[in-house]
Amino acid sequence: TTGRTPLMAGNWKMNLNHQEAVVLVQKLAWTLSDKKHDYARVEVVVVPPFTDLRSVQTMVDGDRLQLRYGAQDVSVHDDGAYTGEISASMLAKLGCSYVVVGHSERREHHAEDDALVNAKARKAHAAGMTPIVCVGEGLDVRQEGRQVEHTLAQVDGSLAGFTAEDVAGLVVAYEPVWAIGTGEVATPDDAQEVCGAIRARIGEVHGEAAGSGVRVLYGGSVKAANVAGIMQQPDVDGALVGGASLQADEFGGICRFY
Ligand code: PEP
Repeated sequence: TTGRTPLMAGNWKMNLNHQEAVVLVQKLAWTLSDKKHDYARVEVVVVPPFTDLRSVQTMVDGDRLQLRYGAQDVSVHDDGAYTGEISASMLAKLGCSYVVVGHSERREHHAEDDALVNAKARKAHAAGMTPIVCVGEGLDVRQEGRQVEHTLAQVDGSLAGFTAEDVAGLVVAYEPVWAIGTGEVATPDDAQEVCGAIRARIGEVHGEAAGSGVRVLYGGSVKAANVAGIMQQPDVDGALVGGASLQADEFGGICRFY
């Protein structure tokens, strides 16, 4: 992670109403204020449902918490007759720093393809937020040994049209689908294989500065007990955490990976 600030992002998925969100953020703030640990060396981000964002904003601003937050999705449209959609400018106005795009659950249940993911990433970026672009293979692809080529094709498609300078500031999350919510974490070597390939490909396509600047996260059943080995890999800069991010002490443990 040479020169790159480690990033731990908690994807709450469709869990916690806005009152429950306040409780979790309070507990997390308490955990992160423990002076025994040097949390300052990690960037900690929570990614709640849309309906929680205003409450999270109020807490982060009011208590000046060293915590950033983001959204789980964004519309490709700017405004207008798109019932149910949330625009990038709405999220930016709420103080979101990040937007997760192309999560495998959206690719699977909402038929999102790389072109749509790319359009969402570009909307988020244009509004001043950092997209966390999710990629990763399913079990069938892994069993065929095609995880690298599959994931790199998603990277190419999802990052199309970004300038080299833009790409250097982006976040890509490698999340093998077979490891998400299954308790089956990838081995550190498996994570490094694909995260390293992602960085190398970005270096080839967008230039060396983009390759060395982009932060590549691993996601899939990360817990406090398994995060250290993954974070020791040279091309893994952090984690996108689902289930374990719903418990402040567990997520705090992940943020103390070092
Ligand atoms: C995720 O949803 O991005 C994820 C990695 O989930 P989990 O940590 O629960 O596997």
